[in-house]
Amino acid sequence: MANLISCPTCGKQISSNAISCPNCGELINAKMSKPAGAINMKDPVHFVGVVISVLVILGVIAMFIAAATSNY
Ligand SMILES: [Zn+2]
Repeated sequence: MANLISCPTCGKQISSNAISCPNCGELINAKMSKPAGAINMKDPVHFVGVVISVLVILGVIAMFIAAATSNY
């Protein structure tokens, strides 16, 4: 994922992974937004959201199983 991008300040081709431009020192990644849809498991907010989603899905599955078994 080491794409080359142009420094917005000096125009030099630098790695998109670089925190700052090695030529002029302009901060690069500090201005870049995170990719949409990427889930960072180290982010506690996203982690809690994933855990809650799994619990809700498991709850729905349990309700379906309970409803299916109660018909017999
Ligand atoms: Zn630069």
